Amino acid sequence: MQILSASEKTVSIGSGTANAAISLENMTASAVAVQVETKNGRFTGLGFSSYGRYGHGGLLRERFIPRLRAAQDQELLDGNGTFDPEKAWAVLMKDEKDGGHGERSGAVGVLEMALWDAYAKSQDMPVWGLLAETFGHIEDPGPAVGKCPIYASGGHYLLSSDDAGGVADEAKRSFDNGYAYFKLKVGGAPESTDLARIHAAIEVAGSPSLVAVDANGMLGGEGSSSRLDALDRCGLGWIEEPVSPLDFNGLAGCAGSLDTSIATGENIFSEADAANLLLYGGLRAGKDKLQMDPLLSYGVIEYMRMIQFAESRGWSRRDFHPHAGHQMALHMVAGLGLGSHETASVHGGPFSGVDEGTRIENGIAIVNDAPGLGIEYKPSLYRYFDGLLAG
Ligand SMILES: [Mg+2]
Repeated sequence: MQILSASEKTVSIGSGTANAAISLENMTASAVAVQVETKNGRFTGLGFSSYGRYGHGGLLRERFIPRLRAAQDQELLDGNGTFDPEKAWAVLMKDEKDGGHGERSGAVGVLEMALWDAYAKSQDMPVWGLLAETFGHIEDPGPAVGKCPIYASGGHYLLSSDDAGGVADEAKRSFDNGYAYFKLKVGGAPESTDLARIHAAIEVAGSPSLVAVDANGMLGGEGSSSRLDALDRCGLGWIEEPVSPLDFNGLAGCAGSLDTSIATGENIFSEADAANLLLYGGLRAGKDKLQMDPLLSYGVIEYMRMIQFAESRGWSRRDFHPHAGHQMALHMVAGLGLGSHETASVHGGPFSGVDEGTRIENGIAIVNDAPGLGIEYKPSLYRYFDGLLAG
């Protein structure tokens, strides 16, 4: 596989919403296109960065795209002349010091995504099929390869109001659209407001176990333990990021006191950080949920290292529930047999819903089997590649 071109642009994906920690008004993302030539022809791979960490234009332009463009063909191929994602990863990470995982992990992740998309298209396979073939699918009674549980993430704080009625409407639309669970934001409003929003969602869901909450790390301060206790008493599906992402001591305290499952990891960007999370965060294998995001953490290759470390400590692939709602996570969850796919259900942005070839039935996504990642089949996402593909 020869790299013919690679380009990127930063796009604005801001919305009038917020979580407990930040406003999402000025959010950006990186759109990436990589054109490759293989023995099967020319193919264009697309990547679109994850949500919540801004675009990676400078890093892509200054380091990672030039490194990919400079690679000799054999640096990307295995002994059979087939594209080797692990070798491509090594090309991207050449001359990068270990540790300090922050923004570059997102730049590598989105570029690697475009390579997987191109590689899968060259093999005439969906990425989920290629991942299952490359790394294997979990063998258990859960959904078969190509299918995965899917849930709706929403209940953001609107910058104009904190309306429990709006949360109920969003939850209803999510369940009507076939999603398995509904997750809403907490920790960014007074406790009484948050509890009203939660109970509005529970009333729609019919059971608290079908509702989860996400505090975005904002319930680790003094006086927050009573708020966490109140959330614990709700009987929710899970409590997400109760404390700051790197506060492993605080997290261990939560794991010791909360009966509810804890979900965390979306701000953990490497195998080394994931290992520290599992060693020192007090999390409970089989009960808690790991939400590391492949696009924010160097892509599939590094994610498989995280999975292998977790499995060596008694965790299952089904305990992984990747953050954000992007097409890469959808295909990884369906192809590898991870726990569930998150998607924003109702706002119509690039991380909302699924592509037009993917069906959602009774909480399960039956993922598009078109070659690649299906970005071309998701107009709310594909529109961000305008201009990039023409160049
Ligand atoms: Mg979250």
